[in-house]
Amino acid sequence: MSITENLKQVCERIVSAEQRAGRAIGSVRLLAVSKTYPMEAVREAFGAGQLAFGENKVQELAVKAPQLPEAEWHLIGHLQSNKARVALAHATWIHSVDSVELVRRLQRIAKEDDRKASLLLEVNVSGEASKFGMASEAVEEAVLAAQEGPCPCVGLMTVAPAMAAETELHRIFAQLRTLRDTVAAHVGTPLPHLSMGMSGDMEIAIAEGATIVRIGTAIFGQRDYSKTGN
Ligand SMILES: *Cc1c(COP(=O)(O)O)cnc(C)c1O
Repeated sequence: MSITENLKQVCERIVSAEQRAGRAIGSVRLLAVSKTYPMEAVREAFGAGQLAFGENKVQELAVKAPQLPEAEWHLIGHLQSNKARVALAHATWIHSVDSVELVRRLQRIAKEDDRKASLLLEVNVSGEASKFGMASEAVEEAVLAAQEGPCPCVGLMTVAPAMAAETELHRIFAQLRTLRDTVAAHVGTPLPHLSMGMSGDMEIAIAEGATIVRIGTAIFGQRDYSKTGN
């Protein structure tokens, strides 16, 4: 299967899931996760109409984004604070903001460098010790901190455990949505986006309200980590 055909299938999966969930067609955005894949794969997807690409490493983002500036680049992987400036230079969306300190640092650098990115707060809803993401209790303070600078906080993001059962996935995604609803109401700001769902669990995430799904392998095929050192 070619990337173009895979993309078409993924788009069809998204539409079916939107319909089954009684949601408007087009209410879920597809983020193509291009980490570890070469630029020729990114270019093929872009040529087939895919506009937004996600990278999980700042270094890889910084190499790829300048080669296709017409695309929209998202950082989806853990962001160390000393790489915040490079991230802001190349991404217009950052899904992996996981502390109040990082929110403040991004806002300060964005002001200094005259950059702007939409921020999503990564939340560790499952409470897994191995996972990145802030605790649910920290989200409200981070949303308030984001209001102090040029980068708007537009929603929440989570990565579900790889081996979770379907009922567990429903529970995790629903929890992120409920948290978003609660914080949005309390702070009085909309937080429209929920970035959740990957190749294996996108239908469940869409049923629970995802507005952005982050899809890698279903578009580009299996990743070969041995070649990239990721
Ligand atoms: C790699 C990655 C994805 C995509 O995963 P697939 O299973 O290949 O679709 C989504 N989100 C994050 C944060 C990732 O690192």
